Amino acid sequence: MTDVDVLIVGAGPAGLAAAVELRRAGLSVEIIEQRETIGGAIYRQPIAGARPVRQATGAERRWRALADDFAASGIPVRHACIFVGIDGAGLVLIEDRHAGKIRKVAARGVILAVGAVEKVLPRPGWQLAGVSTAGGLQVMMKETGRAPGGRVLLAGNGPLLIAVAAQMVKLGNPPATIIEAGDPVGRFAAGIGLCAYPELVTEALSYLRTVHLHRIPWMRAASVTRIERRQKGLRAVVRDGRGREHVFDVDRIGLHDGIRPNEFGLPPEAAKDASLPVILRAGDCREALGAKAAISDGRRAAGEILERLAGKGRQAEREIERLRRAQDVLARLFRPVDRADPLMRLPDETILCRCENRTVGDLKRLCAGPDTPSGREVKHNGRFAMGSCQGRFCADNTAALMAALGPDRPPPSPEDLTGRRWPTRPLPIGAFVAAHAEETTPRDEQQD
Ligand SMILES: Cc1cc2nc3c(=O)[nH]c(=O)nc-3n(C[C@H](O)[C@H](O)[C@H](O)COP(=O)(O)OP(=O)(O)OC[C@H]3O[C@@H](n4cnc5c(N)ncnc54)[C@H](O)[C@@H]3O)c2cc1C
Repeated sequence: MTDVDVLIVGAGPAGLAAAVELRRAGLSVEIIEQRETIGGAIYRQPIAGARPVRQATGAERRWRALADDFAASGIPVRHACIFVGIDGAGLVLIEDRHAGKIRKVAARGVILAVGAVEKVLPRPGWQLAGVSTAGGLQVMMKETGRAPGGRVLLAGNGPLLIAVAAQMVKLGNPPATIIEAGDPVGRFAAGIGLCAYPELVTEALSYLRTVHLHRIPWMRAASVTRIERRQKGLRAVVRDGRGREHVFDVDRIGLHDGIRPNEFGLPPEAAKDASLPVILRAGDCREALGAKAAISDGRRAAGEILERLAGKGRQAEREIERLRRAQDVLARLFRPVDRADPLMRLPDETILCRCENRTVGDLKRLCAGPDTPSGREVKHNGRFAMGSCQGRFCADNTAALMAALGPDRPPPSPEDLTGRRWPTRPLPIGAFVAAHAEETTPRDEQQD
């Protein structure tokens, strides 16, 4: 039984590009997407009735071309459907939130295009209400067409902060200040390398122009060292490159320290064998190289699936390699000026695992004994990465701090904390019960 030739998980640039290529080659394709609109992290479309947020011109043009091709392909997208895993019989398990049940789909190929997650470094007070990720604020703006209200501080590291600031301007509430750990303006030499990527330079200049014209302060080589709750709003304490402290009283804070592939709980890539579909990853969940590379990588994955399922193939590797070099240049340009390990400087009471309220001090105590705990023991005995996010936000930081605390010991990997078995996110028991009831009820008695 095959329900569809290729099931694609994620309606971002990678998933949509892969879908269009496969449809053109004559395969049946279906996309599942956990949210209510398509577009992924960068091109997320507004929900019904909300106005769209305009992107930089180049990004807008890329999205139009992809969206038009996708609309013409007529490929169905099932929204509010979340990839759970692939069972022993090779069936894809999907939590359908609208129907409130788990569905099973038989596919010959599966492309996982689930994007990236944001990295956020812990700081004292980062768990307070009103502190979120800058990318989270961005998704909210794109879906609702509204800027977050009140005075907003954006802080952390990387070009996304500038993009979010420019989008807030377009929606009528510019951020109060941007705090950036790197100093891309001071790294002029590294920036010259970007000239080889005119599309990135044009996009970056358009955001920088907006930030400059609206006189949004961009404090570089600086970082938020702690956040405190005030009677009204939040106070961010910022240390600049000369070690001086500055205080910002705001209503909200958006933190962001880069992105990393969202590979939590994904099954490994697999060539076709008797029991499994061909499983491939595409876009930022394979390698976080940005939206343009995600489109190329979606096409590459489609080519590989075609090669394996139908004996046809395509190549997009050269473009991906070019954009990989571009990301290296950006990483050098935005490298934090202060090279000291920010995790080792955190006071013991700083929360590391927000779901389970576990602190830096808790981790130090666990690691202080003669028998160094493994990542798995830190999870099971210390409850790090044990809460509802299952380590999506804390596993990297916890593993990095464990490595820094025991430099002579083999470093734990974040997967020791997140685990490698699916489902790696909590699922409602009712969804399994509904699926079971459906399977055990004769078809003519089922009401769907
Ligand atoms: C928060 C955030 C903000 C970003 N903002 C910008 C920006 O302003 N400018 C820029 O150039 N780049 C930005 N990036 C990077 C850029 O979005 C990516 O490079 C690009 O979108 C990658 O495309 P993708 O298709 O690989 O993944 P994505 O665009 O992330 O798409 C993945 C899709 O998969 C869906 N998904 C995830 N897990 C599941 C699941 N289990 N089941 C079903 N669906 C699932 C998601 O909802 C999403 O729609 C951002 C990245 C992040 C994480």
